[in-house]
Order: sequence, then C-alpha cells, then structure tokens
Amino acid sequence: MSKELNPWEAQAARFDYAAQKLGLDEGIWKILRQPSREIIVHFPVLMDDGKIEVFTGYRVQHSIARGPAKGGIRYAPDVSLDEVRALASWMTWKCAVVNIPFGGAKGGVICDPKRMSQGELERMTRRYTSELIEFIGPEKDVPAPDMNTNEQTMAWIMDTYSMHVRQTVTSVVTGKPVNIGGSRGRTAATGRGVSVACDQSLRYLGMTPGECRVIVQGFGNVGSNAALLLQEKGYRVVGIAEWDGGLYNSVGINIPALIEHRKRTGSIRGFAGAEEANSDELITSECEILIPAATENVLTSRNAGRVRAKIVCEGANGPTTPKADEILASNGVFVVPDILANAGGVTASYFEWVQDRMGYFWTEDEVNERLDRIMMASFTDVIRYAESHEVNNRIASYMLAIDRVAYTTKQRGIYA
Ligand code: NAD
Repeated sequence: MSKELNPWEAQAARFDYAAQKLGLDEGIWKILRQPSREIIVHFPVLMDDGKIEVFTGYRVQHSIARGPAKGGIRYAPDVSLDEVRALASWMTWKCAVVNIPFGGAKGGVICDPKRMSQGELERMTRRYTSELIEFIGPEKDVPAPDMNTNEQTMAWIMDTYSMHVRQTVTSVVTGKPVNIGGSRGRTAATGRGVSVACDQSLRYLGMTPGECRVIVQGFGNVGSNAALLLQEKGYRVVGIAEWDGGLYNSVGINIPALIEHRKRTGSIRGFAGAEEANSDELITSECEILIPAATENVLTSRNAGRVRAKIVCEGANGPTTPKADEILASNGVFVVPDILANAGGVTASYFEWVQDRMGYFWTEDEVNERLDRIMMASFTDVIRYAESHEVNNRIASYMLAIDRVAYTTKQRGIYA
C-alpha cells in the first residue's frame, strides 16, 4: 500500500507508461524522468515564545525546458521530498497540457500552520524565501499558493525577494493580492477551470448540467469555487466532504450560504441547509460527478471499485492512485485528470506573470474569457489524443505533455 500511496511512484508509473506508448527517445526519457534540481533547506525561525525553531523546506525544479519553473508552495506537517518531487513534475506536465511557456516546480515546508501565529508564519515565509533567493525569480522559478498558503503568503514572498534585489519585483510570484500585481480572476481560476472541464465532459458524453448531481471533497479554494460556479451553471451540488465531516442535501446545497457559514465558523459543520454525512461515504455515494479537491490518494484500490460517479473531475493534485485508475477505467468512469482539470490555476498565474511584466492589467472578463478558451482547447487536445492512441484521458494528457516537452528539448538541443 505504501508504494501505491507514494505520489512520486504514481507519477513515475504514468510517465513510464505514457513514454513507452509514445516511443520516447531513451535519452530524453532519462532526462524527463528525474527532477533537474532539488533544494533542501533547514532554517531557523523566531517563535512567539522567544525560542528558535528549525524548519525544513524544499523546492524542486523538475524542468525548465519550456520556460521558467512554475509551481506552488505548500505548508503541512506531512510534506515530503517525494511529494514535492511528484507535484513538481505534475507542474511540468500541466503547463505543457495547457501549452503555456513554463516548466514545473513545487515547494513545501514541514510545519503545522494551524498551530502557528501570523507572525510566525510571516517570519517562516520570509526566511524560507531568503534561503531560495538565488533559485527563484521571474525568469527562473515563479512560486504560487498551494495548500495552506494564500495571497498573504505570496505578498510576503514578493516583498522579501524585492528587499533582497532592492527593487519591487511583482512577477516573482503569482497568486498575489490584486493591488500589488495580482490578477483579477486568479483566486477562483482553478475552480473555474474545473467547472469548464465538467461542462466539456458533459458535452462529450451527451449529458446536461440539470441532470447532474455533484459531490465535492474539500471546500477550500478549489472545491468551494468549483461548487459555486457549477451551481450557478445549473448543476446540483448535493454533497460536500471535509476532513471534519460532510454535508448532504438531495435537492442541492446553497453554496454561497455555505461559504458564508464556513467563513463565520471556520467549518462546514453545523450548517442548517443540509444533513450531516460521513465524508468517506460521500466519496462513494451516488452522483454523476465526483470532484476530489482536497489532497492526494483519495481514490485508492480500497474504495475505487465503490465509486458510483460517472465522471471524476480532479480538482486536487494526485487524488487517484494508478491502481484506482485501472479500477475506474474498467468500470467505465470518465476521469478528467488533475493535470488537465485543475490547470486553470496555473493558466491564470501565467496571465498574472504576463500582466506584471507588462505593467498593464486586464479586466476579470478578459481573464475569464482567455481562461475558458485555453481550458476548452486543452480538453479537446486531450480527448483527441485519447481517441487516436486508444488510451484513457490520464495517459493521453501525459502523452500530450511529454510529447511537447520532448519536442522542445530536442529543438533546444541537449547540453550533455
Ligand atoms: P485549500 O487549503 O484552500 O483547501 C483544501 C481543503 O480541503 C480545505 O478546506 C481542507 O480542510 C480540506 N481537506 C484537507 N484534507 C481533507 C480530507 N482528508 N478530507 C476532506 N477534506 C480535506 O487548498 P486548495 O488550494 O483548494 O487545494 C486543494 C487541492 O487542489 C490540492 O491538491 C492542491 O494541490 C490542488 N490545486 C490547487 C490549486 C490552486 O490554485 N489553489 C491549483 C491546482 C491544484
């Protein structure tokens, strides 16, 4: 089981399979199979009680073949090098699937942000940034938010980097507040992309939003925005699963009211507009669309056979293990893989980076319209690949991405 649940092994298994299907050149296979750079830092932080704590942080840059490395930073107690490696390589593939000029990276710090004050988080973020100062930058590696980091974290990173280089450099990170170089539409972009992926899946399968019950796991940035947009488009969001409990309402949960409730109380529990439900059972409850939007390894060999959704649209990174993939495929479940389904976030991050470098900012409608266009085109590209190579959508996404990165690598020539 521990092999099944290792995200790096999961990534490598799909990569090898897709590379073999593509007939990938052996040398390029070796290059792309490994991250190109892995940075580990142990750094001190002054805690509120006056003591010094030492934290461990990672930044993995998987590829810079198609442009600067790009990827989020997460804060969690269980961050590991293998997880960050996997997430970094998924960023390379994701940016290639949506055809934006970035490579892939990811970062993480082992910490428990729920037990840290704002001051401690700020000092930890600034010191972690300063440890990475020569490795990040608008033309090198551009971080963004991920689990337990947000626009405030990005503002601190931008400020710390700017202090070191003695000028304001907004384009060093994306996902910033709008008044300091953030892009309109960025916060909701991943959820928006997930909703577009659902729309496209329905069109492809000949279904309509009105007949779709949706269950979402994780009511954070991705899950709540996806739920909100899907409800606005006429889908019925019947279930929400969180770490501390779930909610179910067969006629649909009022999402704006639930967002308000969560903001007020800090939890989805105790919401009057739905019944309490078991979060694990919600994953395998009857619905048309299941959106895992929380974390990795949610669908495994243990529960994939009981999934009753027709469509699994992956808001989270790595929610499905390779074994679960096989089970879902043999049961005819239509999977929109993470590197396509949640690519709306990095696409809007690309728009933010472009706007920062131009110093000219777009309206929210412009951002959304460009985002929708890229998501729709990428969905079509993946489906075409799946049909022409007779593989599932995940392998099709990997093949499309690897093909694009390999092509660029060959074109640039290998400095070996
Ligand atoms: P977030 O921290 O805003 O939200 C995550 C939510 O999931 C939280 O509400 C948390 O309580 C909940 N959660 C955590 N563990 C859970 C569990 N075991 N069961 C049920 N709920 C659980 O994070 P986010 O930014 O929404 O990211 C969620 C996922 O989407 C991650 O896998 C992330 O890598 C991926 N992702 C995020 C973005 C983005 O733009 N934020 C982009 C692409 C992919």
